[in-house]
Amino acid sequence: MRLSQFHLRTSKEIPAEAELASHKLMLKAGMIRKLAAGLYTWTPLGLRVLRKVEKVVREEMDAAGAIEMLMPNVQPRELWEETGRWEKFGGQLLKMQDRKEAWYCYGPTHEEVITDFARNELASYKQLPACFYQIQTKFRDEIRPRFGVMRAREFLMKDAYSFHLDEADLQRQYEVMYQAYSRIFERLGLRFRAVFADTGAIGGSASHEFHVLADSGEDAIAFASDSGYAANVELAEAVAPGPRPEPSESMRDVETPTQKTCEAVAALMGIPLQRTVKTLALMGEDGFVVALLRGDHVPNEIKLAKLPGLAGYRMATEAEISEHLGAAPGFLGPINPKKPVKVVADRTVAAMADFVVGANRDGFHIAGVNWGRDLPEPNLVADLRNVVAGDPSPDGQGTLSIARGIEVGHIFQLGRAYAEAMECTVLDSNGKAVVPTMGCYGIGVSRIVAAAIEQNHDENGVIWPEAMAPWQVAICVINPKGDAAVEDAAASLYRELQSAGVEVVLDDRGLRPGSMFADIELVGIPHRVVVSGRGLEAGTFEYRHRSAAESENLDRASVLARLG
Ligand code: ATP
Ligand code: MG
Ligand code: MG
Ligand code: MG
Repeated sequence: MRLSQFHLRTSKEIPAEAELASHKLMLKAGMIRKLAAGLYTWTPLGLRVLRKVEKVVREEMDAAGAIEMLMPNVQPRELWEETGRWEKFGGQLLKMQDRKEAWYCYGPTHEEVITDFARNELASYKQLPACFYQIQTKFRDEIRPRFGVMRAREFLMKDAYSFHLDEADLQRQYEVMYQAYSRIFERLGLRFRAVFADTGAIGGSASHEFHVLADSGEDAIAFASDSGYAANVELAEAVAPGPRPEPSESMRDVETPTQKTCEAVAALMGIPLQRTVKTLALMGEDGFVVALLRGDHVPNEIKLAKLPGLAGYRMATEAEISEHLGAAPGFLGPINPKKPVKVVADRTVAAMADFVVGANRDGFHIAGVNWGRDLPEPNLVADLRNVVAGDPSPDGQGTLSIARGIEVGHIFQLGRAYAEAMECTVLDSNGKAVVPTMGCYGIGVSRIVAAAIEQNHDENGVIWPEAMAPWQVAICVINPKGDAAVEDAAASLYRELQSAGVEVVLDDRGLRPGSMFADIELVGIPHRVVVSGRGLEAGTFEYRHRSAAESENLDRASVLARLG
């Protein structure tokens, strides 16, 4: 590519709303342009990077045995009625009507559509296991779209769905996907972690999130040094000893796993969940559970019997809650519904939520548990007070650290709920109709671009990991006098690198060196080669890696050997 024939438009001025480095740099480098809240145009430059991510994702999905397909963005209401999610999904679901006044939504995810596809396409056990994926635009009407493409309303996702006869086969595919996800983030050159996760509005039993580690991440994750345990917690602030900073803007975000947990709890209890924050606290013989519910109306008489494992519990009084919480220093104190109180449960009732901090009189314990399951192994439980202080965990499993992360991928074992609700069956080897069990696997393709920048930048711009760079090499031509020898040397190096399969861009825009180098650094191209009259006289090109402090003068053969 010759830059003179490309649309590269970098800018110095960026809107004040851009707070995150990635948001600023994507705007400055001219990778994205805002159309409206949460809606972005990917410029030719941005698209090159997005396609790089897509390519790696696609290759690893193919290798994992998933088959690519493409489903519509617009989905009929009837499908969503079948699973009950037309109402349950909440405000993120963009609903619209056609000219016949029939209702549709713009797909935020595709469990309904794929299950509809499966019930029509999959007839026999012989067709299982089956795993399909697509790379496609989603729309979620996020309450606070922000940070550019990091939390957009329209964004690019890879979503995959698998169908199995039994849980063991689902588990096998889940592990294949887990490995595929790990390879994707390794290939993209990102520092990441897989953590136990909330199953949220998607539902299901087991679930892991993949987080790119970055201080600006919206999620807090805890991981143990020895046991390999890691979970998305967002709880560090609530249990850290000593003075606490004000919860950051993102901690106040209502779209957190807590929100999802509350949604799930509310759904189980059959109560409406709206905006205003209310606290629900339940008290039991052997412990208590506090859940922060966001509802205008949390009825006093909650149908507790509906909550598995919670029959026999009653509402706790404010005094009881304060007393109980007061026993553990460092907590937020008496429940203030405006603070980001998390679901806190005694170990005996921990099965009610995906994310649980077990609280008892000895202190707080963190545990990642999955909906409807028993508590995990004792070694998954650690005392967060010690964790935050950096002391060893009491179970002898090493230390837990808290880091911030950006959720870039999420895999779920969905089970049979969707297939059951939508009457999706296949015939087993005895000719009997059976409901398949499902997995689903998402990756935020467009979010990865922003997350990569959060991890890889300096004050001059982006520093792309090799696999994500829009081009590997930039050849900068410094030729104020229009010297034909300089032009020829640059063009011939450009062609030679191209024929060696290197993605190279020739900066022939005729800019002054300072502006040209600033652009190339801002855009984050890993390798820069400068061709100038002075260099040619000495028989060298000036080479510099984006992250190196100094440049080197190399002859042509050395440049080709290094980059070709
Ligand atoms: P978040 O917790 O950030 O809201 P999510 O848990 O709602 O994400 P999933 O339903 O797990 O998202 O979707 C799969 C992936 O899609 C996420 O892991 C994330 O990388 C990406 N994603 C979700 N919402 C957005 C968004 N608003 N903008 C960009 N990417 C998103
Ligand atoms: Mg979300
Ligand atoms: Mg999430
Ligand atoms: Mg998720």
